[in-house]
Amino acid sequence: MNIMQILPFLIDNQWTTGSGEPFVSTNPADGSPLAKVAGASAADVDAAVKAARKAFAAPAWRDLKPHERAGLLYRMSELMTSQQESLAELQMRDNGKTLSECRAQVASAASTFRYYAAACETFESEVTPPRGAYWTMTLYEPLGVIAAITPWNSPVTLEAQKLAPILAAGNTVVLKPSDVTPMMGLAYGRLALEAGFPPGVVNIVTGGAETGRLLVEHPGTDMVTFTGGTATGRLIAQTCGKALKPVALELGGKSPNIVFADAQLEKAIVGTAEGIFSGAGQSCIAGSRIFVEQSVYEPFLDGLRKYAQGYRMGDPAKSDSKMGPLASFAHRDKVHQYVELGRSEGAQVLAGGEIPTDEALAKGAYYPATILAGIANSARVCQEEIFGPVAVVLPFADEADLIRQANDSDFGLASGIWTSDYSRAWRMARALQAGTVWINTYKQLSITTPFGGFKDSGIGAEKGLQGMRVYMHSKGLYWGLG
Ligand code: NAD
Repeated sequence: MNIMQILPFLIDNQWTTGSGEPFVSTNPADGSPLAKVAGASAADVDAAVKAARKAFAAPAWRDLKPHERAGLLYRMSELMTSQQESLAELQMRDNGKTLSECRAQVASAASTFRYYAAACETFESEVTPPRGAYWTMTLYEPLGVIAAITPWNSPVTLEAQKLAPILAAGNTVVLKPSDVTPMMGLAYGRLALEAGFPPGVVNIVTGGAETGRLLVEHPGTDMVTFTGGTATGRLIAQTCGKALKPVALELGGKSPNIVFADAQLEKAIVGTAEGIFSGAGQSCIAGSRIFVEQSVYEPFLDGLRKYAQGYRMGDPAKSDSKMGPLASFAHRDKVHQYVELGRSEGAQVLAGGEIPTDEALAKGAYYPATILAGIANSARVCQEEIFGPVAVVLPFADEADLIRQANDSDFGLASGIWTSDYSRAWRMARALQAGTVWINTYKQLSITTPFGGFKDSGIGAEKGLQGMRVYMHSKGLYWGLG
């Protein structure tokens, strides 16, 4: 890749370098510059929103029948499947995830487009029960221009989760990927062109927080869908609140992963370890607070520590690497500062906890699988999202103590329960304040099942059929028969 060349973004099916400040995207595995990317200015954001508005009203998009719109989404899915390897490599270089995880994510994103193509083609309006001399029905109509803003941790899947239902519902979109990982967003622009979307339906603008802010504040966007940190989500919600603009927020988490004494211990150790260390913990659903019933606390901790110490960090392209670097050097430093904070709060560091110094790893943004223990749930490292491969392990006495501690968090995104007692699993699943509960599994995701957060973890849900309705108005029709 020629780093001197500025990679353009996409407005109205035209590539443009715009008039904002370009920025460099870095490969976190070795710190090398990956690409210089155009930055979108206020004028560029305005042009993108205007193109999307025009496209929303244009017959080339508006008059497409659902099966024709679905055809474009199927085409996106096919293109992604046929380009799986190059897309996976692109995300790996931009984000640092292992190649095997990137391959799985590209396959998952392709299936997201296929799922919403099918949903688009089979989506039905409803005839509702009449209550007099009239017929009533509900129609679902697209909202208009959707501003979609995404984070850096899993660009290929998170961007598919927005683009596919937005387009299936008949909207047009301006996507702003994270400036830490802009490459997948730009790849989606290229794929949309190849798939044959009409001009202005899919627009991609690249840039940082300022570009995102401009998009949210633009009076021409009809809705904002955002995935990212809770603090940013709160700011966006304030802006949308003032404008009475609908907003969907997928935010942070500090998810409890709970091990009861009657769980299969070996399975629980692997499940909780992978729940936090896979993807280097840079996952909103990472099971970052591991609660363990007192009677198995010591043997569990021993097993988890061994697992963490054997968790191989290395070149993300190598098949024996379990964990690549974190997505950026700035983020790696932030994760380490949290571990230092944990130490100052009195935590014991049972594994990891230091920036690697050996030559192969020191040039990348690597950080080892880390375990903190011996602190209370009220400690900052137990309450704040670290977003790295750092688990805090906490003992609990009984179900009541567990529920009190697990729900003592501003977040409510996900949770896990490891037990062989299914009635207990049911009781706990109902008592946990979280949008997703996994029982004897963790981080299992399906596009068919709604996903969203309680409390500070978000507003609304993505995925499933309701993930498409989020981007639609419902309209009631009354046909008088009197
Ligand atoms: P972030 O909030 O810093 O940035 C997310 C996106 O918002 C980026 O594109 C950024 O440029 C943009 N942005 C920043 N400030 C903005 C503003 N004022 N107005 C508009 N846009 C703005 O988050 P991040 O560091 O990129 O991602 C990590 C966070 O994302 C974590 O908190 C993680 O839990 C969360 N996340 C949540 C989910 C979920 O589904 N709930 C999934 C993945 C990540």
